[in-house]
Amino acid sequence: LSHFRGKTVAVLGLGKSGLASVKALVNSGAIVWAWDDNEESRHQLDDLNVAPVNLVECDWNVPEMLVISPGIPSTFPTPHAAAEKARRAGKAIVCDVELLCTTVAQTPMLAITGTNGKSTTTALTAHIISQSGIKTQVGGNLGYPVLGFDALGADDCYVLELSSYQLDLIDQAAFDASALLNITPDHLDRHGGMTGYIGAKRNIFARQKGPQWTIISIDDEHCAKMATELAREGGHRMVEISVNGPAPHGVYVNDHWLVDDLENAQDPILDLATVTHMPGRHNWQNIAFAYALCRARNVATSDIITGIMSFPGLAHRQEQLGAIEGITFVNDSKATNAEATAKALSAYDNIYWILGGKPKEGGIDGLETFYGRIKKAFLIGSAAQAFAQTLDGQVPYEMCGTLDVATRRALETAKADQAKTDNATGQTDAISPAPVILLSPACASFDQFKSFEARGDAFRSLFNDLSATTSDIA
Ligand code: ADP
Repeated sequence: LSHFRGKTVAVLGLGKSGLASVKALVNSGAIVWAWDDNEESRHQLDDLNVAPVNLVECDWNVPEMLVISPGIPSTFPTPHAAAEKARRAGKAIVCDVELLCTTVAQTPMLAITGTNGKSTTTALTAHIISQSGIKTQVGGNLGYPVLGFDALGADDCYVLELSSYQLDLIDQAAFDASALLNITPDHLDRHGGMTGYIGAKRNIFARQKGPQWTIISIDDEHCAKMATELAREGGHRMVEISVNGPAPHGVYVNDHWLVDDLENAQDPILDLATVTHMPGRHNWQNIAFAYALCRARNVATSDIITGIMSFPGLAHRQEQLGAIEGITFVNDSKATNAEATAKALSAYDNIYWILGGKPKEGGIDGLETFYGRIKKAFLIGSAAQAFAQTLDGQVPYEMCGTLDVATRRALETAKADQAKTDNATGQTDAISPAPVILLSPACASFDQFKSFEARGDAFRSLFNDLSATTSDIA
């Protein structure tokens, strides 16, 4: 960021990314005016020897630009007063990603967005690339702030997960490959409606040109329409992705085979039915995108397959914890709404389903199609009563109160059912698919936990305790 030496830059919001921005700017010799409405957050500036400057009351003629945390509204529903002042003074409002992209010229960058699957695809892509021997840093919306990255060289790679909020705050940023996984309505209040949300997502392609890859799904109506428009616009190296059959010159899934048609060879690359650690069509989408992104970075196909097969997965997203007496435990604590839970329910069968927490609007409406896969539901948290009413007469359920009780009851019930099946068939192999105890709450966690991570960690500990007890008995 040496071009900011001696210049004043305002930073609003002192979370992880804001603090990393302050540090990077200070180290580059910039004068930093930093602010957070929360006093405790402002105290973090002490360690950096930066005095807070109230950005609502300051002279906006001085700063070059405003670097704002993506969590703070700069437009909808109501802009923060500092953002409003910056805009009136004609100053650019950007996020840290814009600073990274306009500063680092040499290191290849891959950017990933979409309503769902961003973190999985980002982590998978970074895993494959680093396993292939390329030095890789991963961050953005996922985990690590981008201005905290180590400086890398021309043979290395940055992999960035970008949210719609971040994409609203880039201007000149371009990427060696940009990927848009899917679009369904989300965060509409922050984008002034669906058109604003789609516009933000489209920003990931705004500066793509020449050899840079534009990788886009054609499986949902919004992405398909955007793909057509971008192709018509020209100048993009388009790579279309589909999990529903052929996408000419792209990467697609035919039946359950991943097919590479980038060079028009229609090469079947990998039988996705063998990728049992990433089940479900939504994961096939993530794999197809990761494949295209890695090809954009010139990773050999054989290395991509090795990387996919060795991907450990992300915690809390259909994370397979292990099995107790043939009963698999899956931690999908990240599924905080019915739509995300639908993906998990579609990926398994013979399910002992732990759900509940702080309910979202709409509750578990829309999950009826999966009821046949569910052996029994175990209800927790403040949503329990309402969910019981929805399930009543269609899916057997138990009111469990806490995750602790629900997990124990689910295991007892699954074991008892297994014993019944064994007796009935006179053999140890169950006829139905292996049972799964699935925590996919379709709810926020805040009624009983600090975060979805804390809820998933608690489930993992319960699994560890239960498996220790079980092996003691054995
Ligand atoms: P994000 O980072 O976009 O929130 P994650 O990779 O963390 O997405 O996945 C969150 C949840 O969304 C997963 O638990 C899964 O149920 C669902 N999901 C993952 N990938 C996809 C996809 N490609 N399409 C739709 N849903 C998905």
